[in-house]
Formats: sequence, structure tokens, C-alpha cells
Amino acid sequence: MTVAKARAVDGPDKPFRVAEIKRRDLDLHDVLIEIKYAGICHSDIHTAHGEWGEVNYPLVPGHEIAGIVTDVGSEVTKYKVGDRVGVGCMVDSCGDCENCRKGEEQYCLKGNVPTYAGVDKYGEPTQGGYSTHIVVTEDFVVRIPDSIELDVAAPLLCAGITTYSPLNHWGAGPGKKVAVVGLGGLGHMAVKIAHAMGAEVTVLSQTLSKKEDGLQFGADNYYATSDEETFKKLAGSFDLIINTVSAKIDISAYLSLLALDGTLVNVGAPAEPLAVNVFSLIGHRRSFAGSMIGGIRETQEMLNFCAEHNIVPSIEVISADQIDEAYERVLASDVKYRFVIDTSTM
Ligand code: NAP
Ligand code: ZN
Repeated sequence: MTVAKARAVDGPDKPFRVAEIKRRDLDLHDVLIEIKYAGICHSDIHTAHGEWGEVNYPLVPGHEIAGIVTDVGSEVTKYKVGDRVGVGCMVDSCGDCENCRKGEEQYCLKGNVPTYAGVDKYGEPTQGGYSTHIVVTEDFVVRIPDSIELDVAAPLLCAGITTYSPLNHWGAGPGKKVAVVGLGGLGHMAVKIAHAMGAEVTVLSQTLSKKEDGLQFGADNYYATSDEETFKKLAGSFDLIINTVSAKIDISAYLSLLALDGTLVNVGAPAEPLAVNVFSLIGHRRSFAGSMIGGIRETQEMLNFCAEHNIVPSIEVISADQIDEAYERVLASDVKYRFVIDTSTM
């Protein structure tokens, strides 16, 4: 057993505190990872605040994990001590259902085991990456390419794959007009990846305050959604819209920006329902879809794609004492563009 230093929260309105958590002894296929960096995803905040339903506190969030393998179980074949690895939003699945066999473990028919706020196959609550160590079965570990530093690798494990997967699935590429709603952690990755895929990229942000950054990330166009003119001007424009907004928005207004046969994919996950005016769909045979992270094979593919195209997130590294402050700033849309915890400060 390994005792890891961690940061935990005890309730929806509670601050983070120092904690110690136990990581299990290595099973045959387990890998022990010394976590170096952990990203802060808005999903951590939704969960820690209890917005998505009941949580068993104390909770250690964190599903954007980058570190080094320090020990391996006796039958591990994929990794060895010293390897640079990552862990994302899930740490296990049944491995046997139709979806798992397709490599879509995130859609496991028996439910995947989330990296935190879940229960593992031993019946123990899972605790996430705001900690110094984690034990994960080798099948849910990915390899970080040598050219990607560990601090910038961390956000790829959720923000990267959650945007890569729908861009890939819905065919973002040359000749496709893609809009990204919300320029936060996910949104800025969506811009960089869609640009590298060859699509024409438009950012739809609340204001123009981050326009220069957006264009530098690879956007071709940038509009403020607070300006009514934006919706008139862009009506019927896009083949694909990726909505990364963490709050409830008027989704019908955004659906009206899709061209014939266009798709709006919601990756943002506010707890409140989004009301759809069906006329915004039927007029141009539009689709309203959702997408959740990506499978393990696709996560590795995304990391390799990012290495090949020199794509890394834009991050602000913080110490463990700054997590509460970082949450406040994310909630105020004051994040450029992902907070990453240096776990040596745990
Ligand atoms: P984030 O960094 O906070 O980015 C969200 C962005 O949405 C903000 O930067 C802001 O962009 C915009 N926004 C926030 N509040 C808004 C409001 N009231 N009206 C309009 N726009 C608003 O969050 P994130 O980490 O990227 O996560 C985004 C969402 O995706 C969260 O709900 C998270 O839980 C979810 N998520 C889903 C998956 C999945 O698998 N589907 C995976 C990870 C995260 P501007 O300042 O540019 O307007
Ligand atoms: Zn996430």
C-alpha cells in the first residue's frame, strides 16, 4: 500500500484541505504512478460542489493526470519503471461489453469506473489526481510522447480528448466550418485541435476580451455572443459546433447557426436541462448531439496527434494551496486557459 499526500474537500461549500489517501497494493496488471501534475477541469468543480448529484465526501478530484511510473505489477507488459504516462477520466471498465470491445470504454454498458467519485472493482471509492500517487490498471494508462512536457500533458487527458473525439467523429477537417462556443479549458483545446485538423475555426465567446489569444490558438474568426448581431450574421453558417459552456445557455439560438445537416455537439455539462426549440432543428435537418471524453485508444491517438502537430494547452501552474482560488477564477471565466497543480507542493 502507498500513502499519497492529497487535497480533499469535505462538502459542497468546503475549502480544500490536506489529506492522506491509501493507494492499493499492486495487483498483477497495476501500475503505480508518481503524479507530477494534475489539471483542474470544470467537471471537478461541478462534482466537488455536488451539482451533478450526491457525492461521497471526502472527495479528491482530478482526472487530468501526468506522471512517472514508479512500480509495476508482476504481469504488466505495457509499461516499465520510469515511463512518462497519463491517466484521464476513467480507471476501469468491464472490458467485455460491445462498447468496451469497440474501444469506447467511456460508454461501457456496465458503466466505466471514473477516476474519482466512483467505486472500483474492489468496492473502494476512487480518488483522483490532486495527489502524489495513483494506482491504475495498465489498460487505462496512456503514454505521453517525449516531446510533450508533463505539465502541459496533464490537460490533454480530459480537455484534449473531450474535444478531439467529437472533432474526429464528426469529421472536422479541410472544407469544414467549425465553431467553438466558450474559450475556456476545453474550448481553447478545441480551437487548437480543429485548426490542426484543417477546419475553418470560429470562436463564439461571451466577449471579445480573449480575441487575440483565440486567433493565436488558430481561430480564423472570433465573435462575441453578447452582441445580438453575431447570431444574425452567422445564421446557417457552421457544419459543426462544439459547445463547451459549463452553464445553461439558449441552445436554440446556437442551433440556428448550423448549416444544412450541421451538428451541434454538447460537451459542456451544466446540471440544468437545455430547452430546444424543435424548429431550430427541423428547418435544416440539424442534429443536436453529445459526446463524453474518448476511449483509451483514441486518447493515445490524440496524444500522438498533439505531439505531431506541436499542440499543447496554455496553462497556469499553481501550488496545491491555490486550488480554492483557482476554482473561483474558473467560475468567473478567468482562466488562461487551464490551471495545473504542481503536485510536489501537496
Ligand atoms: P471552463 O474552463 O470553465 O470553460 C467554460 C467556458 O464557458 C468559459 O471559459 C466561458 O468562455 C464559457 N462560459 C462560462 N459560463 C458561461 C455562461 N454563463 N454563459 C456563456 N458562456 C459561459 O470549463 P471546462 O473545463 O472547459 O469545461 C467546460 C464544460 O465541459 C464543463 O461543464 C465540464 O463539466 C464539461 N466537460 C465535459 C466533458 C465531457 O466528457 N463531455 C469533459 C470535460 C468537461 P468565454 O469566456 O469564452 O465565454
Ligand atoms: Zn474533465
